[in-house]
This record gives sequence, C-alpha cells and structure tokens, in this order.
Amino acid sequence: MYRTVAQLDSQMQSLATWFPGFFTRTQLPEASVQGRPVYALRLRAGTGPERRGVLLVGGTHARELMNPDAIIELAVDLFVSYATNRDLVYGGKTWPAADIKLILDALDIWMVPCANPDGRVHVMTVDDMWRKNRATNAGTSCIGVDLNRNADFMWGVTEGQTSCSPCTDIYAGPSAFSEPETRNVKHLLDTHRIATFVDVHSFSELILWPWGHAPTQTTDPKKRFTTLPQPKCKPIQVTGYQEYMPPRDLQRFQTVGARIRDAIAAVRGRTYTSEAGIGLYPTTGTWSDYVYSRHIASSALEKTYGFTFETGPRVETVEDSFHPADPRPVIRDAKSGMVALLQQSICAIELIGAQFFRAQTEVRALQKVRDKLLSTTDAGREWIALFERIEAPAVVAMLGDRELLSDTAELVKRASALSKDDTTKLTDDEVDAGLKVVRRLRSRVEDADLRKDLRAIEVQLDGLRGTGMSKAVERLMTTPPGAKAPARSGSKGKARARG
Ligand SMILES: [Zn+2]
Repeated sequence: MYRTVAQLDSQMQSLATWFPGFFTRTQLPEASVQGRPVYALRLRAGTGPERRGVLLVGGTHARELMNPDAIIELAVDLFVSYATNRDLVYGGKTWPAADIKLILDALDIWMVPCANPDGRVHVMTVDDMWRKNRATNAGTSCIGVDLNRNADFMWGVTEGQTSCSPCTDIYAGPSAFSEPETRNVKHLLDTHRIATFVDVHSFSELILWPWGHAPTQTTDPKKRFTTLPQPKCKPIQVTGYQEYMPPRDLQRFQTVGARIRDAIAAVRGRTYTSEAGIGLYPTTGTWSDYVYSRHIASSALEKTYGFTFETGPRVETVEDSFHPADPRPVIRDAKSGMVALLQQSICAIELIGAQFFRAQTEVRALQKVRDKLLSTTDAGREWIALFERIEAPAVVAMLGDRELLSDTAELVKRASALSKDDTTKLTDDEVDAGLKVVRRLRSRVEDADLRKDLRAIEVQLDGLRGTGMSKAVERLMTTPPGAKAPARSGSKGKARARG
C-alpha cells in the first residue's frame, strides 16, 4: 500500500528510462548513513537551459509514509496530463490541461521523494514510529538525527521543539548539516535555481512558512537572525525577540499559502491552515526556514520561498495519523496543494522574456521596479499581489494566442526601456497598445475575479498617457487597484466606466 524504498527508486528509474524527454533521475552526491543511494528526479517538458526550479522533498521524517508516495504519484499525474492533454482531476478539483502544460513548460520540477531511505526501511521493517535518520551518535546508544532540525539556520539553538540530546526525537545532530541526507538536499539548493521549496510532512493539515524560531515582524529590519546571539543548546536569550520579514515576502507567503489551502479544500473539503511555522511550535534548523534564510545570510544568493506541508488530519491514533490504512484521500489533497505551489512559482514576465528576448535585461529591469519600489508601500504590494494573481492564467491565455503574446512582449520591452530612461513619456499609442492587450486578455478569461483585476489595470493604464515611468510607478505606489484613476487632461480616450 505504501511504496518501499526499492519501489520508489525503481519507479523513478522507469520514468527516466521510458520518458527521457520528461524525466531525469540523478543520484545525489552522498549515500545515506547506511549506504543507500538517494535520488532526485527532475521533471520538465522541452529542452533549453536551466529554468526556474521548484524542489519538492518527501520522507524527511521516516514514519510520515504518505508523502514519498504523493510526490512520485504527482510526477506521474503531471506527465500523463501533459502527454495526453487531459485535465488533472483530484476529487472536486480540476486542474485544466493547459495549466499543467504551462507548469511543465515553464519550470524545472525537482523531486526528492525519499530523502531519508534508511528511516523508511526501518519504519517498514522494525519500528513504525521511527522519525529520524539512522546515524549512530558518539557516546550514546541512541540512534538518529532529526533531519528537520539539522539545517544551518539557528542550528543547535534549542528553542521549543529542538534538542541537543541524541536520545530525543528532535535531536539537531552534532553540527549543522552533519548528516549526508541533509547535505544532499543542500546540494540541490546550491547547484540549481530553486525559487520555491516544500518539505512535505504529516500530520495536522497545515501549510507552514517562515519563521519557525520566533514570531515575525515587518517593521524593524535590524532584528535579524544574522546578528542575533545563537547560544548552542540553549533557547533564544533575547526576551520577546521577533524576526524581521519584509512585508512583500510576508504577503507572498500568505498569498501562495492561501492558494494552496484553496486548492486542497476544493478536493474534498478539508480546510488546511496556512500560517507561520511557529504557529505549530517553535523550532530551529528546519528546511523551510533555512531555504528562505539563505539569501539573507548571503546576499549573493537568490531568494527561495520555503514551505512545509503537514498533510492529513489527526485521527484516532497517532500511528493512523502518520500512516493511515488508506492514504489515498490525503494523497489527493497533498497533490492538489503541490500543483498550486507549482503554479504559483511561475513567473510570467520571465517566461515571456525567455520566449522573446535573448538577454533577460528587459525582465530584470521590471523585476527591479517590483522589488525595489512597488514592494515598499501598501498600495504597491497590492499591485504585486494582483499581478501574481493574474500571472498564471494570463500566460496560459497568451500561449494560446501568438499575437497576444508578441504584443505583450513588445510592451515588456517598451516598459523596460522606459524604466531606464525617465525622460520619455508614455504616448497615446503605447497606452492604447497596452489597453488592447489587457482587453484581449480579459475577453479570454472567464473567472470574475480575474476580470476585475484586469479591469483595475485597464483603469490605471488609461490614466498614464503622457506620464514618465517614475510618475507611473509612483502612482502605483500610492493608488491601490480598484481606486479611481486620477483625472487627467489634454489627452484622448476616457477611463471606461466600471461594469
Ligand atoms: Zn515531520
């Protein structure tokens, strides 16, 4: 009913052998403590250079048996949908074939279904409640390190559910990344462009994101883990400490978390809670905090959004909660949640850029406007949220409409040029070209909320005739979507009435 480690490995091998155009299986650099190989599977459609990546990890905690199965099944489901052009249906949730096609065309999906093979073997043969890996610990007969406490983030600070004692289930290990199983996952983060990460656990029906060690605050950027004293084997010594997160990142975690929650609820009505990791209990050295903290600890690294899922409800016994007799309903929920995570990881402007521009400078200029300017105000962040909502459906519509796509690419190019030179103003022709794209998009989407978002863009855009880029950005930074466009004079065209 649950796949053994050998079955997971051979399924990965079969997929890579039969469908080399989609799947690549890689053996990670290190064997497990007991010498088992650990594999990553990459799924993508088409060729070309490395893309924006999403990394899905399962089986970190051995007794949480469902999630390696969920990840390998998701790989098959995505591939079959793509190859047969069929919708992906999980209970009451239908993912249109075009959405799945976009995910496989746009992303590199990295999967480590079974990060802790020794633990899984132990659970299936000896002790069905085993959690850690199977490391021998010096000076004690107690076995194993908690692989979700071993990452180099606040490592060894025993805040909440983290321990320095090898005999506990939450032992952080002798040093950060002391374990080959955790170094393997770090290797993928170090060597690929991972934009989003999820470590899939069980149970409690949660979608967790940073921070896990302390409550989050968005007002004092000086309060960072990088300058916080990190006492080994003691909890945080600063009373009332709260970790900083830029409001834009918090918003993104909340937005993506809500999308995942909704995608899960649509399957059969289970309502997961999306919240900061500390909502479960305080921890250090976890994967989701570590992956997100990397770009803060080292400014040369790109940002990765890190999530933890806790799949499945608490049922009568803890054993049944970790590995129910029939895991299929929970697996369907988890798969739908992972599809939502993948979809939310697509970056529309990057994708359009890749289709049309050899260099990515156009795309970078616009991303800079987003990250350095829009993200700094409430209204600006509302626009970012709006663009993120329409991104995936807009790209699906564009990929089915070559003219729309090339018109959009022209706009991206023009907007990027304007963002570098503020002396030129938006002409009527440029605004009209923009309006044409937005209206055409609006005619191609059915969702009422999306149409409302597109209408909000239309209204603002119409008010930008004769404006330079800095003025236009300033307006977005001060005027949230849905607000009335400012009055203007001396230009043709009118803001269309809302309807
Ligand atoms: Zn777990």
